[in-house]
Amino acid sequence: MTAITTLLSGLTDGSVTIVDLTAPLSPQTPVLQLPEPFANTISLSLEKVSDFDDDGPFWAWNNIHTGEHTGTHLDAPTHWGTGRDGTSVDQIPPERLIGPAVILDFTEQVAGSPDFLLEPDHFESYVAENGPLPEGAWLLFKTGWSRFNTDAEAFLNADENGPHSPGLSVAGAEWLAQSAITGYGVETVGIDAGQAGGMDPAFPAHYHLLGADKYGLTQLQNLDALPATGALLVVSPLPIVGGTGSPARVFAFVPA
Ligand code: MN
Repeated sequence: MTAITTLLSGLTDGSVTIVDLTAPLSPQTPVLQLPEPFANTISLSLEKVSDFDDDGPFWAWNNIHTGEHTGTHLDAPTHWGTGRDGTSVDQIPPERLIGPAVILDFTEQVAGSPDFLLEPDHFESYVAENGPLPEGAWLLFKTGWSRFNTDAEAFLNADENGPHSPGLSVAGAEWLAQSAITGYGVETVGIDAGQAGGMDPAFPAHYHLLGADKYGLTQLQNLDALPATGALLVVSPLPIVGGTGSPARVFAFVPA
């Protein structure tokens, strides 16, 4: 038996299942809203090319209009100033897009405090209990935030002081950037906390992680279906040449 035949028989006999962590991509999918004077990315829209009509009697197809950073998507290093000379999304080696998933569950803390931040202490207690984060891991910050996926207002959670959603502190981002992980995934609209624009440096998750050749992954859902460790993540962004990111389909292979 090769590793592949073992995996395939696991999928057949149900000892391995596949969980789709991708949020549905539609015109209603929440997108980041930056304040003035910054420009914002666009939501998804479909432009009909034909729909079994005179423009194509036997077929239907659409042009897609969307941003690189819309919906469940990957942030490549070139998305941020600290990584601008690094890897664009098409240059990411596929080996780095597949790796072990490590789930850190802070759903309870975030329910009581939407501005909750992960600090080095949180990572250090995890490591003390479970050992070091595996080489090439995708660390997924489970917050329960995906329950707001279909309600853009609750998802973005903004008031007069800007958006409120969980993320990394400056020190937490620095700690993670020095770890062995490949990527950091979240349930929120971006990899930084809602209030990260006011931190120093601003948007520290982007600043530190993308500057350290790590990748971001946003708007994940169904993290409830994943064990704390033991799942395999497959992240599939489009190879947009020179792209700073891409909508991505994200699957987890989960042992029963
Ligand atoms: Mn992004």
